[in-house]
Amino acid sequence: MLIGAHVSTAGGLAKAVSRGEDLGCSSIQIFNQSPRAWKPSAYGDEDFAAFREAMDKSDVQTVIIHAVYLINCATPDPELRAKSLTSLTNALRIGEAIGAIGVVLHPGARKDADLAPAIERAGSVIGEAIADSESCPVLIEQMAGHKGILGHDFDEIAALTEAAGGGDRVGLCLDSCHLFVSGYDIRTVEGLDGVLKEADAKVGLDRLKALHVNDSLVPFGSKRDRHADLGEGEIGERSLALFLSEPRFDGLTATLETPGKDKKGATAEDVAFARKLRSRGLKARAVMS
Ligand SMILES: [Zn+2]
Repeated sequence: MLIGAHVSTAGGLAKAVSRGEDLGCSSIQIFNQSPRAWKPSAYGDEDFAAFREAMDKSDVQTVIIHAVYLINCATPDPELRAKSLTSLTNALRIGEAIGAIGVVLHPGARKDADLAPAIERAGSVIGEAIADSESCPVLIEQMAGHKGILGHDFDEIAALTEAAGGGDRVGLCLDSCHLFVSGYDIRTVEGLDGVLKEADAKVGLDRLKALHVNDSLVPFGSKRDRHADLGEGEIGERSLALFLSEPRFDGLTATLETPGKDKKGATAEDVAFARKLRSRGLKARAVMS
């Protein structure tokens, strides 16, 4: 498992790699542009080359892009749809230029509109973005379940995957916090096993390319998205240790999106603690079997 954190690209793409190194990350996640503005970052070939060179020299092995929050692939508004498509396609092209594993995407919000047509709308934008780019996968993120946000359960993710064309560039990103607040009980080995069996049956675990590892400030099934530092929330150290040591997650990138003690994001201590929890989980599993 490649444990790492979400890092800022302030100062340039290559700067994100050195931030990842400072945190002791084996993997990093970045935004391809400011997450709260439509304006794309003006990256050119030199930026991509500098990024790849920095990666080659570092212990950071993989990079994931998180698409910007403004994207709403499910919108019925033609202007927002066009902006969402442009932004997602741009993220995929940057992903290709920097060798990213995928672009993590919040699949969209339907607000009060009907579910099935919203899923069709979202799927068609995702499918078009894939068709307009070469190789980088879209990783649909399993969401926290607040009303009107698509993708909180595996039925919706399966329908979105299908609506996006169902090809091998439609992938999945699982977030421990989102699973927990959506009512997927990942607190025990058996619970997590059941959740992954359902994900496999409905979506296919071969699509799972990335994990977000976060504790939850809010209770099980509460359908709100409030990340907490590992061990400081409602999921707790023991269950996160099991999540991090799940055999089906071996080899995946696992990104901390935790607030950190100064609310500036995960620290080197947090990344080290995640590794410690993983080894604790491996030991606990060895005793159980
Ligand atoms: Zn996300």
